[in-house]
This record gives sequence, structure tokens and C-alpha cells, in this order.
Amino acid sequence: MNVPFANLPLNYTLHRQEYDEAVQKVMSHAQFILGPEVTSFEGNWARFCNTSHAVGVGSGTDALQLILRGLDIGPGDEVITVANTFIATAEAISYTGAKPVLVDCDLNTHLIDPQAVEAAITLRTKAILPVHLYGQPADMDTLSTIAERHGLALVEDAAQAHAATLADGRRCGSLGIAAGFSFYPGKNLGAFGDGGAVTSSNEALVARIRLLRNWGSVVKYHHEVQGYNSRLDTLQAAVLDVKLRHLERWTNLRRAAVASYRSQLHDCPALVLPAEASWTGVHAYHLLVIRLTDHDRDLVARQLGAQGIQTVVHYPVPIHLQKAYAELGQPRGSLPNAEKAAESILSLPLFPEITEEQITHVCTQLRQVLSRSPQART
Ligand SMILES: *Cc1c(COP(=O)(O)O)cnc(C)c1O
Repeated sequence: MNVPFANLPLNYTLHRQEYDEAVQKVMSHAQFILGPEVTSFEGNWARFCNTSHAVGVGSGTDALQLILRGLDIGPGDEVITVANTFIATAEAISYTGAKPVLVDCDLNTHLIDPQAVEAAITLRTKAILPVHLYGQPADMDTLSTIAERHGLALVEDAAQAHAATLADGRRCGSLGIAAGFSFYPGKNLGAFGDGGAVTSSNEALVARIRLLRNWGSVVKYHHEVQGYNSRLDTLQAAVLDVKLRHLERWTNLRRAAVASYRSQLHDCPALVLPAEASWTGVHAYHLLVIRLTDHDRDLVARQLGAQGIQTVVHYPVPIHLQKAYAELGQPRGSLPNAEKAAESILSLPLFPEITEEQITHVCTQLRQVLSRSPQART
């Protein structure tokens, strides 16, 4: 049996008519840039996230960069984020000229450690950029308290957290001054290409980001500031409006799949299932990431692959150990939890349409692989 890591072609097949109609409508009216579907999706996405505004932009990376630019963060400033994230989080900071300051995660939740954040604050710190990693909210109440105490902006990297909530019901996207979402095709709400959005209820910041995404212009050929060309495509907005109608159901299906994985793996030795934090309401499970305690992760992945099971590692190298960030001069051993996680984590197949048979196949094979005695790392 084959179990792909995700299955976007199947999603298209199941909803082909809705997608085709939405896309054809845009092709007919031909307002490809900032057309009516962008305005419609922005309104729906803001409502969904419980914010006053959403601004559609070119990608999740741009969403984060434009928020930081909108907050006037630049050269000489520092922004604190976590080492175990996709590189875009750090790059969005670097693009502004500010320095990303990387801190460690909690090994239990893999989320940014608020104590490490507080310890990293300097006179240059301007913002904290927590990542709602794998679809689980960071410890936002603790982080808000720290941000307020030090007069810092709190910006969410919500690229993996569509529809996630805190235990009190507040949605990711509404938990800081602004949030950056990604609609990269593989995300829980994914377009048919690149796309992103900023959500915020701060009117002044939203106005600045609307300017920045469109060459600093409101009135055509009149430019208030030097901006960017970074708008959400009308075609993508049309697709996203269709997908948004299904997002809560798809999130529930992901959560049900994770519950099934849990029931089949809870007594399996040598693996740690993902922890749900006390502050988490809805974990959106963008990814189902387990940790292997005894076995060589890469060998396990290869053995599962031989059984037709596709797995991925999110992410194999923490940012401070990436060649691209050698400039930070942060040595191996400096962020032990992020480093330990990078060596031992494995993301299992998870998508709304995954079947019970597929989940059982993954669990059976995984149990079998882990029942063999651990081999030396290869
Ligand atoms: C996907 C992702 C991004 C970047 O989003 P793009 O739309 O690909 O630019 C940023 N941060 C995290 C945590 C992500 O997973």
C-alpha cells in the first residue's frame, strides 16, 4: 500500500467543479491583480481570524517581512525568533536589515521557550516573532506579558496555524499586533501557487502594509513610500475562498486522523507523540511530528519508504546551523533542544483525505521498524 505524505491531486479531484468555476470566473473578468476576489477573500479571512483586517500578499515570507517593515524595524534592530523553524521566518527578519536572534524551543512542544526569549532581550530588541509550529499556538499569554513588560511588538508567524486556537477560543492570527499567514500549496489553507496574508486589527499598521505591498501607492502612479510588488493574485484569492469554506471540516479531519494515529501508537516504545500544550485549544496539525528516542531517524525513514510510506523531516537543520546563517556565529551545542529535535523528529503522512487503512498501514510498519533493535547511526 502506498501512503503519500500529502495528496493535493486528490483534493483537486474531489472539488474540481468548485475550483474550476472559481478560476474560470476570474479568467473571464480578467482583473488578475487586486480583483474583486482578493477583496472578498480578505474580508472572509479577517472574519475567520477574528481580526478587523486581512491584507493579501505574495507569500507568507512577504507577509512577515511587510509586517516588520510596517513596524519600522530595520538595520540595528533585533527580532527574537526560534531556531527550529522554516528558514523564511529568519529571512523575513534579515530582509529588513534587522538581526534575527535565535532562541531554543521547549523539547516537549517544540515551541519557542518564553524564558529563553526573555533572556535574549537587549536594548536593540524591537519584536518577538514566535512560530505556531506544526499548527500549534506558541505560549502567547506568557509571550504577551514579556512583550508588554519590555515594550516590544509581538508578531505571529502563523504560516502553519490556519484555524488553530488558544484554549480560550481565540484564533491564531489575532494574538499579536499582526500575523503572517502562508498559502503555499502544502499549507492547511493552500493556494494553487504562492500566496500569503497579514491579519491585524491595528488600523495604522494595516494601512502601511497595504501601501507597502503595492509599490507604496494608493492612487495609481503616486507613491507615498518605496514599497514592493507583493499582492495576492486574484486567481489565488478565488481558490482560497473556495477552500476556506472547507477549512474547518478539513481541520477536523486532520485532528481525527491524528487521534487514530495516537490510539495506534500510544504504547509504542521508542517514539514520542506530539504533546498538546495546556494553552492549546485547537491544534491545527499542519504536521504530525513524532520524535524517535532510540533509533536512527534517517534509517527509519528509509525503511518506511521501502514500504511505500512517505515521510519528511521538518526541519533537519536548525537555522543557527544553516550555512546561510553562518554570519550569526552561533555554534553547535548553543541551542540543545532545537538541535536534538532536528536529529530525532519525523513527520508522518497527514492530509484531510487520508484513510483509516493508510493510517493503520503506517502504524503497523512503524511499530515493526521500531521493534527491531536500534542500529548505530549511519
Ligand atoms: C511556509 C512557512 C513560511 C513561508 O511561507 P511562504 O508562503 O512559503 O513564503 C514562513 N514560516 C513558516 C513557519 C512556514 O512554515
